[in-house]
Parts: sequence; C-alpha cells; structure tokens
Amino acid sequence: MCVHTSKTKKIIEYEGKPICVDCLTMLKYPPNFEKMREEVEEILKNLKREGGKYNCILAFSGGKDSVLALKLLKEKFKLNPLCVMVDNKYIAKEAIENALNVTKYYNVDLMILNRDYTELFEDAIKRGESPCRRCSKLILREVWRIAKLLNLKYIITGHELPFGHSAVRDMKEGIKMIRLLAPYKFKEEEKYEMLKDLPWKKPNLYGYTTNCLVLGVALEKFYEKYDFSFEIDRVATLVRLGLLSKEKAKEKLKKPKVPKEVYEELRRRGLKI
Ligand SMILES: [Zn+2]
Repeated sequence: MCVHTSKTKKIIEYEGKPICVDCLTMLKYPPNFEKMREEVEEILKNLKREGGKYNCILAFSGGKDSVLALKLLKEKFKLNPLCVMVDNKYIAKEAIENALNVTKYYNVDLMILNRDYTELFEDAIKRGESPCRRCSKLILREVWRIAKLLNLKYIITGHELPFGHSAVRDMKEGIKMIRLLAPYKFKEEEKYEMLKDLPWKKPNLYGYTTNCLVLGVALEKFYEKYDFSFEIDRVATLVRLGLLSKEKAKEKLKKPKVPKEVYEELRRRGLKI
C-alpha cells in the first residue's frame, strides 16, 4: 500500500499479503477526514466573528504548503492571519521572495524573525540525522510566543498530514494548532494548480521542500550512512493516503545529488560542512 520495505519498516503478513505495520494501523483505524474537516471549519467559521486585527497566526515559510494555507484562510474562510516566518539563516532566497510577494498580493502582514540555526544543522549533518524535527520544534516555539504575545488562540500551519485522527492539537496555555491542509487531502499536482494564480515560483531545491536549503545536504549525508531517505515515513504516509503516486514517491526518495553551488552557498551562510 505504501513505499516501505523491510529495510525501513516492519513488514508482517495480513490476510496472506505482506503489509507494513503503518498501513495495517490505517486499515484497522482509518482516519475520518470528513470529521476532521468539520472540526476545522467550525473553528475557523467562529474565528471570523472574533474582533481584533488578526484572527489567527499562520506559521509561514514561503513554501508551497503554507502559501496554500494562506490562500485558504483568505479566500475560503475570509480571515486575516498574521503570517509569522522564522528565517533560520538557511531559507532559500526564492522562498523569501515568494513569501514577500504572496503576502503583498493578499495584503496581509508578514513578520520575519531572524534566527540562526547553524549549530543545530551542523550537529544533525555531522551525526547523519534528520534536522527537520528539531528545526520545526524551534520554529513552532517562536510562533507560539508571538501568538501568546498577541493573545491569539490559534496557530495555523500548512502541514498536510494530521495528528493521527485530528487536524487540531492543544499547545501550551490554551493555544491550539491547526494543520489546515490535512482534512482536504490535496494531491501534489492539485496544490501546484491552486498556486498558479499567485505570485509564487517553485524554487529548484533538493528533497521534499520548497523553502529549505539544508534538507538536500542532510538527506545526502543520511543516505551515505543508512542507504535510505529520512523522509520515508512522511512520503510513505502520503502514498498510503493517496496523495502521492508510488512512482513520484520513489523519485522523491532517491538519494539527492546536491550540486557544489549549494554547499558553497551553505558555507557562505556560515555552515561548516
Ligand atoms: Zn505500508
């Protein structure tokens, strides 16, 4: 059902066929996307009635998913989010341009926080680990702080996969996070189609990203160590849910060949690799 093999996931026999344990879990407890959507739409409908300049925070990266989330917030839900972007020093410059262009197009405010995640990335690359979880944790912490400061109760993100069976999760101190794209199950091609009328250009990057410059290099190092991609779980889930074809998934899971210009750019920004 997905792209896992015995190298990346436990495979068992189920009704006479081999299946990975994640696929089996989904077969046994299928997520209800209709219910997820009702929950999210109910919250967003009510947010519209609340006063204040901003209805919510949008964790914004200039990548395709958070831009699509902005489109939904503006066009479908008629909300005014504050877009908060954390520039960790390794965002592709095209992604920053995209962020500026799209927020200008929608006439929404964009707050860019300049941070430096050099140490985190150096450490992860040196160990041959994925830096993604640690990076997004730090980014979310920053975004949460702004929500707290402005007394906003909801942080919207462009994540495409739900938290198990819901697209909503409680954070600290009554603030909730909504993975806005999760209930809609947009296919990758549909997303690009929806972005067509926006001033957004797809950057040429390595790995499953439209904003991060480090991912390709981290994937390359991880590959050298383990001979598979650390994006396997996410990509396998996309396949399992029917959001990505197996062929495209396999393409995405290949070892990237990051050109030396990217290494040079990363070094220029301060990364010792
Ligand atoms: Zn599977």
